[in-house]
Amino acid sequence: MGRAAIFIDNPCGAARVMPSPALPHAVARLRSARLARSAKPFLARGGPRGERCAGCRLRPSHCLCALRPAVQVHAGVCLLMADIEPLKPSNTGWLVADVVADTFAFGWTRTDVDAGLLALLRDPQWQPYLVFPGEFVAAERVVTSLLPVAAHAGASLARDAGKRPLFVLLDATWPEARKMFRKSPYLDQMPVLSLQSEQLSRYRLRRSQRDEHFCTSEVAGLCLDLAGDVLAAHLLEAYLDVFTDHYLKARQQQPVDLQDAAHLRLAALAGGQPCAA
Ligand SMILES: [Zn+2]
Repeated sequence: MGRAAIFIDNPCGAARVMPSPALPHAVARLRSARLARSAKPFLARGGPRGERCAGCRLRPSHCLCALRPAVQVHAGVCLLMADIEPLKPSNTGWLVADVVADTFAFGWTRTDVDAGLLALLRDPQWQPYLVFPGEFVAAERVVTSLLPVAAHAGASLARDAGKRPLFVLLDATWPEARKMFRKSPYLDQMPVLSLQSEQLSRYRLRRSQRDEHFCTSEVAGLCLDLAGDVLAAHLLEAYLDVFTDHYLKARQQQPVDLQDAAHLRLAALAGGQPCAA
């Protein structure tokens, strides 16, 4: 995985980037493209500006890159991101792209749609699901579990026999997500996966006013769990905890403890060891 590059946000809004040995993932590429279009610099909330790692967006003293887990994931994730979302250092779609190899990311606008997004949604290898609360959707579109796949001879596992699930997540604030849902006709034909979990969000960075709203990586984790990618789901959850810890400690200018419960849980999961935590 190697050391990630360091970039420094400069006053022109563009980032001075040194090449990273790791291929930038879809969210990183979207962030770079968005930064390049910026007429003025994006100022992250809180704290002085300064050097940040291009691999994880954290300060080099709190870099997360060495802890990025590697796991095989059957499902894919497609992030439709509100305009400013890729620029937020607290955006957790980035973490999804770190863990799920087949993560796609597109910027959303009301008036335009990326041809690559339309091609992805039509790609026969995927069964797309739009992940959205069922209470806001016509009942006939709502599913609460994955659609059955048609088995064919020779398939060793049921889930190998059909299309791979592709979870389409609206990565945005709740008002933005509702607008995206209403104003994206290309999403209208897709089944809507409504998550039923009663698990409350433990996310502390951008907590919604309503506790039942999950952050993007939590939603992705719940989807992976539904799809049978259980280890990846647990890894993503543990990785979010560690990211949150590094993010908050950086803001508080406190060192991270690599031996605390969150780090040990992530290490145990990443090493494939049974974990009691
Ligand atoms: Zn880093």
